[in-house]
Amino acid sequence: MIEPRKHLYPDYRLNVSTAAASNRDLEETLQNRFGLDEFRPGQEEIIRTVLSGRDAIAIMPTGSGKSLTYQLSALLLPGLTLVVSPLIALMKDQTDKLEELGVDAHAINSGLTTRQQNETETAVGNGEGKILYLTPERFRDREFFEVLLDREISLFVVDEAHCVSQWGHDFRPDYMMLGSIVRRLGRPPVLALTATASPEVQDDILEQLGMRNPFRLVGELVRPNLFLEVLPTVNESVKDAALEKILRDTHGTGIVYVATVKEAERLSEQLRDRWPIALYHGKRTSKQRNEAQEAFMAGEAKAVIATNAFGLGIDKPDIRFVVHYHFPGSLEAYYQEAGRAGRDGEPSRCSLLYRVEDRAIQGYFLGGKYPNLEEAVQIARIMNSMPGETLRPLAEIAESADVARRKARIVLTLLKRHGMVREHRGGEWERIAADVTAVDLSRELTDYEEWRARDREKLDAMIRYCTTAQCRTRLIREYFGEVPGDDFRCGHCDVELGPTLRGASAPGSNGAALPVESAGAALVPTPEEEEPEAFEPGEEAAHTTFGTGVVLAVRGDRVEMDFGGHGLRTVRADYLTRA
Ligand SMILES: [Zn+2]
Repeated sequence: MIEPRKHLYPDYRLNVSTAAASNRDLEETLQNRFGLDEFRPGQEEIIRTVLSGRDAIAIMPTGSGKSLTYQLSALLLPGLTLVVSPLIALMKDQTDKLEELGVDAHAINSGLTTRQQNETETAVGNGEGKILYLTPERFRDREFFEVLLDREISLFVVDEAHCVSQWGHDFRPDYMMLGSIVRRLGRPPVLALTATASPEVQDDILEQLGMRNPFRLVGELVRPNLFLEVLPTVNESVKDAALEKILRDTHGTGIVYVATVKEAERLSEQLRDRWPIALYHGKRTSKQRNEAQEAFMAGEAKAVIATNAFGLGIDKPDIRFVVHYHFPGSLEAYYQEAGRAGRDGEPSRCSLLYRVEDRAIQGYFLGGKYPNLEEAVQIARIMNSMPGETLRPLAEIAESADVARRKARIVLTLLKRHGMVREHRGGEWERIAADVTAVDLSRELTDYEEWRARDREKLDAMIRYCTTAQCRTRLIREYFGEVPGDDFRCGHCDVELGPTLRGASAPGSNGAALPVESAGAALVPTPEEEEPEAFEPGEEAAHTTFGTGVVLAVRGDRVEMDFGGHGLRTVRADYLTRA
């Protein structure tokens, strides 16, 4: 049972009447407002927690009824419930549904016209609305924030809360300020919701949002209607055959995730004369992406071949299969992507086509590509030795310092951020500070070390999932911090039930055996034709919105860039092109 709220948090005005929401209140609201007979696992615990004024974090799979937890709470709380979400389409969908249920819900985001935004702001200012959905950047609008300060905020909900954490696979800088927003709003109870977060990411979420003594709920991590399988494939043609067999043998529609745009194009080309195929990746136009998504949603495509740009906010309950042609960089990402299958509870298949060489595609192995402290000092010294108001090209600086050019570029970009040096057209650099070594870059450089180590750990866990001889569900549960008993067996994975696709292996290949011994194998060079989209630190890349910038760090599918005038930003790799 939930512990009663103690008087630990005097800065929050606890409304006594709501703290005592009775069983009857909850059940009546569930039945009369939402037309549901009973709670799904975890929902009631979360609702009771937030109604009692305590913070909560819930890790629940998509489709397990996360949104009901705050929607129902909002109806029983006296003030306004704020729901921060990055997904504009989802907001529209949810407010429409809530309006049908007679709930006073609003959304405010960049998808509305200025007039609509103003109208909503006025309505909220007039005390209307029980639930307000908004994107995090809305808080930057001062006038609007004043409006919020005049309202009693009863609950602050952060949806897709893993976006808060820079260790998460979907970090969004706009989420970073939410902790201070919560404080300025008088510290209402915070409810953080996500479908996926490792214990490390969970802790980071708590810290970033300033959550105290939260109730933690880790929901049913792998739904029993999902059959989990990993198909070892020794080469591309075996892999293609396995994919085709899945498409032939599995009824309904599904998603095929690939790591690179090039592979997505190739597969779609190869399969499209036999099946209706939709193609979705970051290099297609938004019109093409919309068409692909619509065809998929309407069930007109057998499969959508997609990079991980596809899927966030997709609400299609009858996805019958999710195939990973390449494994993603972390189990969180895998769990989230595969978890899109079978939300309707019907049997569905999550297949991963494993090939040991694919680890190179992840672009995680950036060892030695970031500058270390010594190299940074070398560059700073070279800059110090330059007379004032002279320009030197990057190549020359790098050579004098005996540091690789790309690393030199990173150091200079960092120094520029600290106002020590200036970049001129044509890649020439000038010292503007008297002593360039006066700045301390050790923090930035230590960050690189940490990121690299964490990325590598995440990838190792992903590979353990692919190569385990144990129940795959067990491995996922352990990774997310659960402790299944010694005799735990899920009953819905290939390790227990046997591989389904022996026939997909090429003659003579050892396709049915799991190549456990390859888990620690040295990195196999990526064949030329599989050149990943991964960017290298120190190189230039162009972004559709922010223009050209310098790659400072690569973390999974996120790239940290310095865009000069547009500042430091973390962007998705698939929205970048080589400059
Ligand atoms: Zn199992």
